Amino acid sequence: MLRSKRKNFFKSINFKIALVFALLLLITLEIVGAIFVKQLEAKNIQDFKTSVQIPTYIDNSLAEQLTVSSTRKANGQIKTILSNYNNTNVDEIRVVDSKGTIRGTSDVNDQSVVGQKTTDRNIKNAIYNNRTYTKNTYDTQNNGRYYVSIVPLYATSSTGNNSQLVGVLYVRANMKSVYSTINSIMGIFVLASLVAMVLGLGIAIIIARAITRPIEEMRQQTQRIARGDYASQVRVYSDDELGQLAGAINNLSIRVEESQESTEAERRRLDSVLSHMSDGVIATDRRGNITIINETASEFVDVSDEKAIGNSILDVLKIRDDYSLRDLIENQDELMLDFSSNEHDLILNAYFSLIQRESGFISGLVCVLHDVTEQQKIDNDRKQFVSNVSHELRTPLTSLRSYIEALSDGAWKDPEVAPGFLKVTQEETDRMIRMINELLSLSRMDSGTTRVDMELVNINELFNYVLNRFDMILKKDDNPAKYYTIKREFTKRDLWVEIDTDKFTQVLDNIMNNAIKYSPDGGVVTCRLLETHNQVIISISDQGLGIPRADLGHVFDRFFRVDKARSRAQGGTGLGLAISKEVVQMLGGRIWVDSVEGKGSTFYISLPYEPYEEEDLWDDDSQV
Ligand code: ATP
Ligand code: MG
Repeated sequence: MLRSKRKNFFKSINFKIALVFALLLLITLEIVGAIFVKQLEAKNIQDFKTSVQIPTYIDNSLAEQLTVSSTRKANGQIKTILSNYNNTNVDEIRVVDSKGTIRGTSDVNDQSVVGQKTTDRNIKNAIYNNRTYTKNTYDTQNNGRYYVSIVPLYATSSTGNNSQLVGVLYVRANMKSVYSTINSIMGIFVLASLVAMVLGLGIAIIIARAITRPIEEMRQQTQRIARGDYASQVRVYSDDELGQLAGAINNLSIRVEESQESTEAERRRLDSVLSHMSDGVIATDRRGNITIINETASEFVDVSDEKAIGNSILDVLKIRDDYSLRDLIENQDELMLDFSSNEHDLILNAYFSLIQRESGFISGLVCVLHDVTEQQKIDNDRKQFVSNVSHELRTPLTSLRSYIEALSDGAWKDPEVAPGFLKVTQEETDRMIRMINELLSLSRMDSGTTRVDMELVNINELFNYVLNRFDMILKKDDNPAKYYTIKREFTKRDLWVEIDTDKFTQVLDNIMNNAIKYSPDGGVVTCRLLETHNQVIISISDQGLGIPRADLGHVFDRFFRVDKARSRAQGGTGLGLAISKEVVQMLGGRIWVDSVEGKGSTFYISLPYEPYEEEDLWDDDSQV
């Protein structure tokens, strides 16, 4: 972590700017320093040379001594002159005459050289060439820099017009002081440079920070924008290019936020449209893999949307065996898909359309699934109904025709068979008329044109009246094998219910008829009447054939009969319960059945009921 931070620092603009600053500073200081030091050195050396130059009057007096013939006297004079001359920079002054003999030295400890011939080649050369000679030397023995000058000494001749070389003056000066000054100045300079470098580097870093901080802040802000956080804004420090860039980023962030919001709102709108659609919608990519599936669609195909997304539409719609993706793309017809399961029927109509770019490039498919189960069922029911009606009418008509044929073939003359034949034709005709009447009344109920005359009826009385009628019929029927009892289990309270008496009587008649008709061995028909807090419940139980479990759901269907032959033989049309159901529903009630095959059946009717207090009735009556 620390390492990467350090690595990042060396890569940063901050560091680069500081480095450039520091290098510039260093180069400048070096150049300035070098020039300065060089100049200073040259100046100091020049000054030094000037300072060690032997004044002319000494030169002259020395030259004068060299012309003196008495060597001893002259040497004494020279010694005096040299010892009188005092210059701290000068180490040694030697006077050498034109013959190369050392005539004097300022070095008090080395007076023995006086009178000896010089061995110095430079001195010899100077005498020989009659030329001034100067040299900077470096003495390795004592690490000292020395300045040596050999100046010819001229004596003015008696004629006064010409000068004659009489010897040379050898001066040796130690340059230590010059170089120590230069070194100390160099030291100061290096120190100053270092201080300047450190300060400069510090300032460079501060300046670089000032430049890079807004850049860093902008970087962070763009990262935040990328993450979808548009709340914060970059601080604008100045009106320079960086400031303008910061402003532009702030502007961008607002723009991005706006467009993001609008696409988000658009997406939400689309989402809510999709999720509230009663049709299923599936969108796929170019390869037919699902990208969007709405709730309805995933309910239809019974695959959760997480599982469906990414899978092929062919698999999700279970049509891979019959269709390829190419089929769907090339001819986008509607398909009928059967998604029925054991629990429920589901027929879907699938419409396909392409998602196409302007260039014509197909980027996907959209499939809209429409639930047509109900429609399909209605269609089937209608077809079934028409076929049932034709079938139901054809059977009696065929038998009618055969009887009529038999009669017209001469049977009418036969008094034995003719009345029987006529009776059958009459019965069949009656049955057909009854059936057509029932169909008419059903169709009236379907179209809602039936008139209902609601009245408040004491249901106990009505039910009792109907049952009494059946008692009478049963009494008349003197077939001992078929012995029926009608048992009443009524609540004591009078129940007043609002119904259409005629139609409801028809319902009770049909159920009672069925109970007797489908109990060939007789038995007890138990009729109950009871109330709950808002319903009146009538139940009629028999001990007859019962209804197979599989047919329980169909007994209220039009033309449905458990045993077609038997019930037709008993004159049934299979419309009785269908009409009963319509009537009960019209009265706001419910009808249902419970049955065990071979044991018997119980039909229930519930009717809405508002319990009236006796007093209320009384009040009502008294007011009337
Ligand atoms: P219709 O009543 O029109 O004369 P139907 O009695 O055959 O003719 P529904 O009353 O609608 O027609 O009854 C339909 C079928 O339900 C009957 O054919 C019969 O098979 C069965 N069913 C009705 N009631 C009973 C019952 N109590 N016991 C056994 N089966 C019954
Ligand atoms: Mg019936």
